[in-house]
Amino acid sequence: MVSKKEKTKIVLQAPRGMHDILADEYIFYQSVFEKAEKVASYYGFQPIQTPLLEKTELFTSGVGAATDIVEKQMYSFRTRGGDHLSLRPELTAPIMRSYLEHGMHTLPQPVMVWQGGSCFRHENPQKGRTREFQQFDLEIIGEPKPIAEVITIRVLKSIFEELNLSPIVVHINSIGDKECRPAYRRELVNYYRKRINQLCPDCKRRFRENPLRLLDCKEEKCLELKQGAPQMVNYLCSSCKQHFREVLEALDSADIFYSLDNHLVRGLDYYSRTVFEIFSSEGDGNTDALAGGGRYDYLAKILGKRDVPAVGAAMGVNRLVQLMIEKKIIPKQRKQPKVFLIQLGNAAKYKSLEIIEMFRRAHLPLNQSISKDSLRGQLNLASKLDMAYALILGQQEVLKNSIILRDMRSGTQETINLKDLVEIIKKKLSYD
Ligand code: AMP
Repeated sequence: MVSKKEKTKIVLQAPRGMHDILADEYIFYQSVFEKAEKVASYYGFQPIQTPLLEKTELFTSGVGAATDIVEKQMYSFRTRGGDHLSLRPELTAPIMRSYLEHGMHTLPQPVMVWQGGSCFRHENPQKGRTREFQQFDLEIIGEPKPIAEVITIRVLKSIFEELNLSPIVVHINSIGDKECRPAYRRELVNYYRKRINQLCPDCKRRFRENPLRLLDCKEEKCLELKQGAPQMVNYLCSSCKQHFREVLEALDSADIFYSLDNHLVRGLDYYSRTVFEIFSSEGDGNTDALAGGGRYDYLAKILGKRDVPAVGAAMGVNRLVQLMIEKKIIPKQRKQPKVFLIQLGNAAKYKSLEIIEMFRRAHLPLNQSISKDSLRGQLNLASKLDMAYALILGQQEVLKNSIILRDMRSGTQETINLKDLVEIIKKKLSYD
């Protein structure tokens, strides 16, 4: 039996691999999302927000039943009403579902959207890998040409630059299309069949179910085997080759640094042609990807509709925040308050709300401690926070609609009328 103490301990812990984001850390997330949204909007991306839960079937058919994400990592359950739902493990399939559901093919194409928010994967938690994580996602739906890949990568690069997280390197590959990939797949299977005994248990299964994913394995033995495996680039048909060439040429002319990674396949089934992952180029080569994406021209068809060419990518916001913290990149904070409101007694406490509201409407930041009661305690806090001014509101002041303004440096005080307060503070702060 679990003791009461143990039970309390369990209840008072966030689920494994999931974390609270407290104020000090929140400013990093806010900075990433604000900057990412600004850059994306500049390039014409519109916001979209899809539900945290989707029908499980969307992921089993869209992302692929034989992928790690769907097979081992989804949080799936049956609702009281009998629906099979899953917490979204990624954002592309939900956005494509939304595009198809709302008939967005009738809008001018391509439809360009961004979405930020939590994704959930039941992974083994470790540095850079959690079970709930935040993504900033971009999708360009309805564009067959290489410009879609180039815009997506350009926007990601600009976001990294805005966050001072450059330099980055784009690992890129083409995995071909339904014309040329089958021949490559056959060669890959031939190669691995001869070496099947050397594969890790997971890869033995991948060999049967989804051989391309053999190239995704991070086990040392499998990494070694990968070195000799056939490369997709040698099997690309002429249209895939041409497409890939155009992507690379456009990256060259946009001065975006990339490295060809002939074995990059990415973990999901829906990709075709271009796939890429972005890394910090200051890492030791073993660091986790900061972002990943690619073209997925067949996803809409897999979901039961027409072919809709599309490209998307997602940044791992937690990993960006981690990198910012490691590199000591502190986001600029909003205007810091220089005025502290002190209230003494119950009537003043209620009157404080009116004064906070006056400051809020004038866009003047203000600090206060509604919970503290003593003058000394509040003055100490104001000086600890290095406030330039304190406003003291006691019983007398409430009755007379006035307030005491104290200069924290000189200690001088004056009583002023409440109706003049905002203007006086504005004037004083502009001289500081
Ligand atoms: P993926 O499409 O799986 O490559 O995910 C895109 C990006 O999300 C990755 O490049 C990571 O930065 C981030 N990401 C994926 N899974 C996790 C995870 N479990 N924990 C933290 N970040 C993740």
